[in-house]
Amino acid sequence: MSTSDATGATALGRALRPRTKLLPEHARGHNRSLVLQTLFREGARSRADLARDTGLTRVTVSDLVAELIADGYVVELGQREDPRPGKPATLLDIARDAHQIIGVDLSQHDSFRGAVLSLDGEVVHRREVPLDGATGDDALAKATALTRELVGLAAVPVLGIGVGSPGIVDPAGRVQSAPNLGWAGVDLQGALAAATDLPVVVANDANVAALAEHSFGGASSDVMLVKIGHGVGAGLVIGGIALHGSRWAAGEIGHVVVGTDGGPECVCGKRGCLETWLAAPRLDAALDAAADDAARSEVLAQAGRRLGIALAPVVGALDLAEIVLSAPAHLLDGPLPAATLETLRSRTMAEFHDHVALRGSGLGEDIVLRGSAALVLAGRLGVS
Ligand SMILES: [Zn+2]
Repeated sequence: MSTSDATGATALGRALRPRTKLLPEHARGHNRSLVLQTLFREGARSRADLARDTGLTRVTVSDLVAELIADGYVVELGQREDPRPGKPATLLDIARDAHQIIGVDLSQHDSFRGAVLSLDGEVVHRREVPLDGATGDDALAKATALTRELVGLAAVPVLGIGVGSPGIVDPAGRVQSAPNLGWAGVDLQGALAAATDLPVVVANDANVAALAEHSFGGASSDVMLVKIGHGVGAGLVIGGIALHGSRWAAGEIGHVVVGTDGGPECVCGKRGCLETWLAAPRLDAALDAAADDAARSEVLAQAGRRLGIALAPVVGALDLAEIVLSAPAHLLDGPLPAATLETLRSRTMAEFHDHVALRGSGLGEDIVLRGSAALVLAGRLGVS
């Protein structure tokens, strides 16, 4: 940790115009998360190791650890094998088996999926319910029943429930708008909390997927995740902070028109939206209609170029390190990613942006489920 904060040298890394004073309990909460974060990422540590790793005093660490053990979040593993004389140190770890997490993915157009996950984000049980065209209250009832079933499958206390929902989701977990599900102003977080009596956190599916890449996919702290599915959305983590935007719609690039040459008509009424080039059902239809392999390659390359055009100003504005694509595998196997990267490079400044990496997500179709677990870990324990 640098001490240059005091000189103002890193002022750009801080929130501008602070509005609330830092209370002692904030500092305590922050330090508690710091201890948990260190154990979460680094594994078994002694109290002395933790003091060294975090910069906290031994007394503060012992005090926080006692509290975390009492709360059931930290366990003592036993004593370290130590050839040196004196009392061997006791190793601590996050109580990885003491809690499980429920993750729910509402982003698929034909089914709701859910899982019981470990604190390390591994799927322990999974369940899926067909949507059968349900919208409105019927869709909400299906989501609630699935969540309840998953809570019943957990073998240990549930740390929390994380949900990735399509559409615009506000910070209170209300789905402001999800046209495919017929939801407008639906208090999904409140409904699931009332049905389960557990802490619930709901966020947009692409934002949740970006968290999954950040926590479990090895992404850097400046990453844009583009999720290609029924629609096209994106999630942004900038400087290690998830971006929400002024109306909680950051990353909603699907209905941005790409180019000035028109294009296919979109459900939103405009022509040439990114979704019309890139959404999985549109691409699959175009691939089916293509006459031969060369034509199919051109469909994918065209989609990749349109995505590159849409991403170039974002990369230019935000100086991103990495772009991760999450899409059905058959769409990423061909020329799409290369066409995106080539277009991106040809439209940005080589000096700054040639290093931008573009890759497919390794988290597969569980990306939203695992991101839901990351959402709970971040919200409940402050770790990611
Ligand atoms: Zn549109």
